[in-house]
Formats: sequence, C-alpha cells, structure tokens
Amino acid sequence: MLKNITVRTKSRNEFIDLTADIQSVVDESGTRSGICCIYVPHTTAGVTVNEGADPSVTRDIQHALSRLVPHSGDYLHTEGNSDAHIKSTIVGSSQVIVIDAGKLLLGTWQSVFFCEFDGPRHRRVTVKIVGD
Ligand code: ZN
Repeated sequence: MLKNITVRTKSRNEFIDLTADIQSVVDESGTRSGICCIYVPHTTAGVTVNEGADPSVTRDIQHALSRLVPHSGDYLHTEGNSDAHIKSTIVGSSQVIVIDAGKLLLGTWQSVFFCEFDGPRHRRVTVKIVGD
C-alpha cells in the first residue's frame, strides 16, 4: 500500500508531528506485521523520529540545526536556501518503522516529525506499507 499525506507548513523552519496520520495509513492498510517506510520527496525538508512529549525537544533541535547551518553563509547556490538543502541532508529523507500488532513500533516518547526547512510550502509525504 502506498499513500501520500499532504502537509501545509506555516513557517520557514517547523517540525510537524505526523505520527497519528501515519498510524492511520497503517490502520487503513490492515497490516498487522511489516514495515512502514516514510519518504519525503523534497530537497529542503526531511523526516525524523524523536521525542514528541516535550515540544522543547523539537524546538532545541531546530535551534541547534540553525546554529550549525546559518541561513546566510558562504554558499554558492543562488536560490538563497542553501541552509535548507544542508539541513535536509543532515536530517535525511526517509525513516523505516517496524509495524507490530497493527501499530507503529515506536518507543514511549517517540513521534514521527516532518521537518520543514524552507517553508511555508505545500509538501507531500509518501508512506509505503509492506506486510510480511
Ligand atoms: Zn535551492
């Protein structure tokens, strides 16, 4: 099963919790056991798994990435969004999560976040479910 989730971001840098949306795709697929691949087909966004309980964590991650990769710098890319491309590469474009008993096998504090680095934009997240 393959499904696309549409994400509308509101800020240049923003993490959006997609855990419930992705679990809905798993539910819809009827898959009890398998893997869930989450793929972001964009060059200035990404997807990560990290703490969803305390919003300070994703705020701290975003701030740390922005200190590491400033918006302005010695970049050659003329679009003015080199920082977003670099952050996308650091964070990565995909995640794979095990499905067990029909649920994403996430840790207690883990959530799946879409990571916007060049918003606001309309984005797409592809979810592929493979049962075993
Ligand atoms: Zn660019």
